[in-house]
Amino acid sequence: TVARLGGDEFAILMSGCRLSDAQRVAEAVARALEVKTTLNGHAVDVHPSIGVAVCPDHGHDPGKLLQRADIAMHAAKQDKLRIVTWDDRYEENGEKRLALMSDLKKAVDNEELALIYQPRVALGDCGEHFVEALVRWQHPTRGLVPPSEFVPLAEQTGYIRTITQWVLGQAIAQCAEWRNRGLPMNISINIAACDLLDADLPARLAQLFEKDGCAAQWITLEVTENAIVGDPGHALKNLERLHELGCKLALDDYGTGYSTLAYLRRLPLDELKIDKSFTMGMMADAGDSLIVRSTIELAHKLGLAVIAGGVEDEATLNELRALGCDAVQGFLVSRPLATEDVPSWVRESPWTRPAREKTSLRRVS
Ligand code: C2E
Ligand code: MG
Repeated sequence: TVARLGGDEFAILMSGCRLSDAQRVAEAVARALEVKTTLNGHAVDVHPSIGVAVCPDHGHDPGKLLQRADIAMHAAKQDKLRIVTWDDRYEENGEKRLALMSDLKKAVDNEELALIYQPRVALGDCGEHFVEALVRWQHPTRGLVPPSEFVPLAEQTGYIRTITQWVLGQAIAQCAEWRNRGLPMNISINIAACDLLDADLPARLAQLFEKDGCAAQWITLEVTENAIVGDPGHALKNLERLHELGCKLALDDYGTGYSTLAYLRRLPLDELKIDKSFTMGMMADAGDSLIVRSTIELAHKLGLAVIAGGVEDEATLNELRALGCDAVQGFLVSRPLATEDVPSWVRESPWTRPAREKTSLRRVS
């Protein structure tokens, strides 16, 4: 039986065969697929990755066998091999990771992803509200999986494109909805390194803005330093297209990579986000404090706004305020909130009072 499991994945079920038979068929399939193909006049290379699992050596129940074939397939992809047979060593170290990888592909379709929103507040004069969208994966059996665990996996398998598309769709629709309800909200969205190399991203964003009636300037895209350093030429081109669309661009995790002043000047950035590791260390560590202080100065000279993440206490907040930092985000202000809790937080929190007063003044005048 040959079946299409979804996307570019197929399964072949062979009954009454041994491992060597399965491997022979896998070889033949790989060879057949590797023949040069022409699509609309373009030569296309196909590189299949095949995972093999057999009963009874690798499991008895169909679900387990399919999962193990899938894990073996991912191992093949990862190691750039054509065919990999399930091996018990995947169980010890990589199984959790590889199993997560295979489960992740169903996360969007099974509606297992959710966005939560962490407020950030401006320290200066500003009549608007800001939140950062953070993705969460509620795994059906493992519970909550943090993005630090699954975003890198999704980047490896290319599934990040699907996740990013989902995140953008949700956050942009949410921003438009809040605006329609009279909440002057701005949303920052994290995009992954490989998203920045995706030439279709600007067009897909433009489509979402149009569909939901969301203004591009309400959305900030947060990109990490390594996204730009990896392939600066392509990244720069895409950043410029995103900038032309009218979205704001922020450099996330600033300080953790190797950005140079000369390089930053060439990027169409609006904001710099100081990584939380520096903010959290700045009251105790002279080095961290120096980085924060000089980053604020440097960013301002380049015409960028500075946001400090990871603000957990008043002393840090006061220091950042004294240094002229433009906005802060962190557990002191608020932990990330469920979507439905955002409007009431914005209406009631003492942190948003200056922004609220400014908005109502504007309405009156
Ligand atoms: P990030 O963009 O630097 O996001 C901030 C992270 O710091 C969040 O963790 C947030 O919960 C945490 N945080 C905020 N304030 C504090 C604080 O005061 N103290 C401490 N200790 N932590 C604080 P989270 O949600 O686990 O996200 C981790 C990273 O995962 C994010 O770092 C971002 O790089 C990535 N990520 C999250 N959502 C998405 C997404 O939708 N797409 C992509 N591509 N990456 C995402
Ligand atoms: Mg971020």
